[in-house]
Amino acid sequence: TQASTLAAFSGNNALADGFRVPLLANVGTGADAVKAADAGAEGVGLLRTEFCFLDRDDEPSVEEQIAAYGAVFAAFPGKKVVVRTLDAGADKPLPFLTNADEPNPALGVRGYRTDLTSPGVLERQLEAIAAAEAAHQAEVWVMAPMISTADEAARFASLCSAAGLRTPGVMVEVPSAALTASTVLREVSFASLGTNDLTQYAMAADRQLGPLASLNDPWQPAVLQLVKLTVDGAAAASTVLAGTAAAATKPVGVCGEAAADPALAVVLVGLGVATLSMSARALAAVSTVLATVTVEQARNLAVAALAAPSASAARQTVRAQLPILVELG
Ligand code: PEP
Ligand code: MG
Repeated sequence: TQASTLAAFSGNNALADGFRVPLLANVGTGADAVKAADAGAEGVGLLRTEFCFLDRDDEPSVEEQIAAYGAVFAAFPGKKVVVRTLDAGADKPLPFLTNADEPNPALGVRGYRTDLTSPGVLERQLEAIAAAEAAHQAEVWVMAPMISTADEAARFASLCSAAGLRTPGVMVEVPSAALTASTVLREVSFASLGTNDLTQYAMAADRQLGPLASLNDPWQPAVLQLVKLTVDGAAAASTVLAGTAAAATKPVGVCGEAAADPALAVVLVGLGVATLSMSARALAAVSTVLATVTVEQARNLAVAALAAPSASAARQTVRAQLPILVELG
């Protein structure tokens, strides 16, 4: 039965051949983080900080922010927690940062771009994240949402460094960032693919509109190509920097809904994605399916998915090669 198949989840996140793929959780609050830790998440791959303050009309104080982030760090002592700076705008308006009258909010002043209109908020948030890190043992990584250019990535990295934060990264969720990943990744230590927005922007289809759901599908060939470009760009950036002070592998994770689809998770790993972050309830199924394939099989399935002419063909081709999915129902 599904229950007995899934009961095996132990937080030991590896493929059939032992290849490790850390499975992390997407959380919005300290309470979410406690649940994610109980569910066996190895860490947090996306702390959506705007969720801590959605009910607020004004900017939270640095002290309030330290308390909110610290509650998440406390749930994962010694573990990785990837904090995303405020991603206000479009589907997540925050009255103190975004303008509800913009004609095209998804293309507007949102995410990292709010620094253009509300200078200082980002610096204060980074100060709070650094202070919360100092008070807890978590391994804190920080990333900016809606990065479009290498210049933005460089500026974000310098703000992180000024705040004493050592591991700056970017979300890759705008197609321009995926297309220029080799230069974007020279500026930061890691990237996390936000496949929800990456799909919306690649397909020019509002992610909130039900009638466009078949376009808003991360199995779309265009989206899989952008994932591959990002991973390959990150590898190229790592090579260019070899021998310099900034040399290091630049890991690319996924924190969009795509990571929660067990068959697509296999494809993402096969494309070279290093970590997967998802809502806690998806962890068991993804872990169970990953444990049935070797990295070589995952790579072959990624090649097959990339070669498919449509989202549905890619999905069917991969699912047909994963018999465990029948058992999971
Ligand atoms: C994404 O865009 O895939 C993502 C993880 O961020 P959000 O859903 O919060 O926009
Ligand atoms: Mg997003």
